[in-house]
Parts: sequence; structure tokens; C-alpha cells
Amino acid sequence: TAPVDGSATEPPKKFPKGVVLGKDGKPCRSCTSFGAWASQAKATLKTSHDKSSTAPSTIASAATSSTRRTDCPADVETLGRSSWTLLHSIAATYPPAPTPTEQNDLKSFMSLFAKLYPCWVCAEDFQQYIKKEEPKTGSRDEFGNWLCEAHNEVNRKLGKPTFDCSKWQERWRTGWKD
Ligand code: FAD
Repeated sequence: TAPVDGSATEPPKKFPKGVVLGKDGKPCRSCTSFGAWASQAKATLKTSHDKSSTAPSTIASAATSSTRRTDCPADVETLGRSSWTLLHSIAATYPPAPTPTEQNDLKSFMSLFAKLYPCWVCAEDFQQYIKKEEPKTGSRDEFGNWLCEAHNEVNRKLGKPTFDCSKWQERWRTGWKD
């Protein structure tokens, strides 16, 4: 079977555009979009088919099929959406007047989150951001706004529209007013 994680056999020498390599030099799935990953899997499959006839990998099959499976390892976008949901939901349930312990817990969590984030290129940038703009944990609204600005920084980097931070509570806590 052709590899899906770049580990079983030699990956192609040249990777399709958008494939981000891990620190081990192999394609990093949680750093790469599904589309780029699928192209990479197809290229790997072709390389391994050229050598011997083998069964297709799941990801390469998904790349050629019109429907995308939902029970696959997370790509950079799925991971990002889920992570932002977790972070903004933490902001939404954070106390309006947190104790010093709660404030320290949140600071520690953000620092570890930035270190452990599975997309290493994203993690390195986020660590830099946190160093420059320390998380504000004095109240729910303070942290929610800080997080919204941090998310907007990533949005800008990716060329996405920025979000109106005056609406963060409506988006993540109370629901829309209309
Ligand atoms: P997302 O950006 O995932 O947003 C989800 C939802 O949040 C949106 O639909 C919107 O309703 C709401 N939202 C958007 N902006 C804000 C905001 N400012 N405040 C509050 N709510 C908002 N991807 C990369 O390719 N490269 C990176 O370097 C990278 N770094 C990342 C760093 C971190 C810490 C995280 C958590 C994710 C990172 N990502 C990165 C993933 C990227 O930010 C997106 O999650 C991904 O591209 C999917 O984007 P999306 O358009 O579905 O919406």
C-alpha cells in the first residue's frame, strides 16, 4: 500500500505546491491543506505504482473521488477551525472576574498550547506572537478581545478577511442579536 504519512516508503523528491515539510523532512499533514496533501498522496502513489502494482491509499482515493471522507487525520484547516473553536469557547466561559490562579492557569495553557500546536509552522509564529503580545487574562472580555486580535493576525497572514472584534461575544458566547 502506498504510504499516507510519508513514512513507509520513499516520498517523491519534488513535492506539489503547498505541501509543508515537517522537521523530519517528511510531509507534515497537520501543516498542509487537504488539497495539497491529496496531490502529494497521488504523486507518491504514482511513484510506488511505477515501481510495483499496489492497492491505492485512502487519501489518494479520496483525492480522486468527488466526496471527501470526514474521518481522516486533520489537515491544517480542520485543525485550525477546531482549535479556534476550542480557544474562543474557553474565552466565552472564562470568568468576568477571574482569580489570580485562574489567570495564571490561562496564561500557562496558552503558552503550552502554542508550544504543542500540531502544525509546527503555525506554532512557531503563534509563539512569536504571544511573546510580543502577551495574553490578556484580566477578565473574560479582555481575553476574548486579545484572542480575537490574535486570530485576526493569523487571518491577515493568510489573506483572509479580519473579524470585527466588537462581535466576538455574539459569535462565541451569546449568539447573534437578530
Ligand atoms: P477560521 O480562521 O478557522 O475561523 C473559524 C471561525 O471563527 C470563522 O468561521 C469565523 O466565524 C470565526 N472567526 C474568524 N476570525 C475570528 C476572530 N478574529 N475572532 C473571533 N472569531 C473569528 N493556517 C495556516 O495555513 N498557516 C498558519 O500559520 C496558521 N496558524 C494558525 C495558528 C493558530 C494558533 C491556529 C489555531 C490556527 C492556525 N491556522 C494556520 C489555521 C487557520 O487560522 C484557519 O483555522 C484555517 O485556515 C481555516 O480557516 P477558516 O476560514 O475555516 O476559519
